[in-house]
Amino acid sequence: MDDARDRIDTTTAHSARVYDYILGGKDHYLVDAEAGDAMCRHWPALPVHMRENRRFMHRAVRYLAREQGVRQFLDIGTGLPTAPNLHEVVQEVAPESHVVYVDNDPIVLAHARALLLSSPQGATAYVDADMNDPDAILDSPQFRSLLDLDEPVGLTIIGMLHFIAPPGDQDLVRRLLDPLPSGSFLALTIGTADFAPEEVGRVAEEYAQQNMPMTLRDLPTATSFFDGLELVEPGVVQVHKWRPGPEQDGVDDRAIAMYGAVARKP
Ligand code: SAH
Repeated sequence: MDDARDRIDTTTAHSARVYDYILGGKDHYLVDAEAGDAMCRHWPALPVHMRENRRFMHRAVRYLAREQGVRQFLDIGTGLPTAPNLHEVVQEVAPESHVVYVDNDPIVLAHARALLLSSPQGATAYVDADMNDPDAILDSPQFRSLLDLDEPVGLTIIGMLHFIAPPGDQDLVRRLLDPLPSGSFLALTIGTADFAPEEVGRVAEEYAQQNMPMTLRDLPTATSFFDGLELVEPGVVQVHKWRPGPEQDGVDDRAIAMYGAVARKP
């Protein structure tokens, strides 16, 4: 953990910490708060957008655990611990669930302890790795020991693919799906400027100025990440429209700059 602390840069904003700040967490620095405030000035709906992204994750993994019986998850771009974390949602359905978390931000690594508080019957692990290097994830002892590749795995890539630029983006997702057996699932969300182009464009500019360039996708591009997979209902939609619950009542479409979907690997 000391190594991780040495690598923490408190002079530039980081996406995990800006997200934590906007969601009302406490694991961020002044630069992240300043960047977050600037983004919210550009687009006041940003906190609603981020909260709905997080809630999509809750609904999607609960669906996979409850309706599809998935008991193992590989989560890329986990972010800072925010209750409930993915393992808490799925272990509430099935305490024996295994979850492997992956992020490349040293501050997420420094806070990973909270992600490792598994139920006694299940297991969680954390991999400090970059999605641009899928072998570092697939060859990690955590991946190899926690996930049984004879059983379905839920691959979740939530609120992070807009930080991965084309043209290699789709291939990276494929590389992670390749070793997973038939009956596995992909759940992902991805940023879009389709609904509030001006405001979201300004937020993206702010991220770029802070050295976090973003690629926003239109609906056909977001959908193409699922080529060859079987989309579950309702397909690729704004995250608040994916199997919504009462919490999603009254959410304004213009406040949501994220597509989300869940699909099965045949
Ligand atoms: N999945 C969480 C957090 C999203 S914030 C949620 O939706 O609530 C985006 C996260 O992706 C950050 O924690 C950031 O550090 C991580 N991230 C960005 N680029 C990454 C990369 N190339 N590899 C691994 N993680 C990355």
